[in-house]
Amino acid sequence: MKKKVLQKKYDEILKIAELATGRKETVSLLHKAEKIRSKISKKVRFNCNKCNGYGYRRTSIDGAKTCLNCFGKGYVLNNPQSKYDL
Ligand SMILES: [Zn+2]
Repeated sequence: MKKKVLQKKYDEILKIAELATGRKETVSLLHKAEKIRSKISKKVRFNCNKCNGYGYRRTSIDGAKTCLNCFGKGYVLNNPQSKYDL
């Protein structure tokens, strides 16, 4: 597949993942997206500013929730709301 096609597919999966309601559904979509992303050339990673790169956020003392800003990866590929000038 061509790079452009992969990129488009990747964007589509992320969009679907954002709309997905179930946790399992979201996670499986994100894994799919990650596979595609790894085929696309590596890009600069930005540490997720919502979870500080952990990929999850503490909700209580013994509860943690997958960070939906970075989809549990701990980083984002492009961050339009980034406050940092890179
Ligand atoms: Zn995060």
